[in-house]
Amino acid sequence: MRTHFRISSLVPSGLLFQSVSDSTDSIILLVRSRAAKARCPLCGVGSRRVHSRYIRSVADLPSAGRAVQLRLVTRRFTCEVPHCRRRIFAERFGERVVPARSRRTARLEYIVHHLGLALGGRPAAALARRLMLPVSNDTLLHRRCHRGSLVDARYLIERFQAMVRQKAVAELEPWIAAAGAGLIGSFASGILKDKAAVCAAITEAWSNGQTEGQITKLKLISQMYGRAKIDLLQARLIGAV
Ligand SMILES: [Zn+2]
Repeated sequence: MRTHFRISSLVPSGLLFQSVSDSTDSIILLVRSRAAKARCPLCGVGSRRVHSRYIRSVADLPSAGRAVQLRLVTRRFTCEVPHCRRRIFAERFGERVVPARSRRTARLEYIVHHLGLALGGRPAAALARRLMLPVSNDTLLHRRCHRGSLVDARYLIERFQAMVRQKAVAELEPWIAAAGAGLIGSFASGILKDKAAVCAAITEAWSNGQTEGQITKLKLISQMYGRAKIDLLQARLIGAV
């Protein structure tokens, strides 16, 4: 029985194989998305207007003793929604194919994740190298910490949003204390500096006004406090209204 092997079968599903360049120790696959349009990560509306393209490199599972690299042709789209703050965004390839901002495919990520859980940082990194999985020590050591703080930040933002909705001024102080140490710490310490104004914003028009008004206020507060993650907060607020 003959087995036909096509190099395009190495590509994760959902991606389209373009071309290959291989050497004795690596295989580099040029791939792109099958989708004609992409969804804006901020407003959620699809766009077909391609602005530009770039190549994003991600590592995939090794194959027959050779490292596999995907070169993803990534399109930047223009968001055509008039009031959306995100003018240009890069397409995503799906959390189950190539997670956003990841330098690895989901299937490689999955194995690395379980290696880390089973063995812990350093031993996992050593075994990963033996298995030809392209992973740095740092990746496995910092994984849990990073994921934890993202979850915390999301939870804190939800609490902030609920506080605004319910005009629960009394919760502002405990919220600042909880948020101070995390990813949104700069935002929280900014609020601490000008607590009276933020209390007023919460008790007054915030929860009754239009989304537009809320965003304007949020922008003002954000400008005052510099590096606040306004995109994230705004997305949360829009989701709540
Ligand atoms: Zn948009």
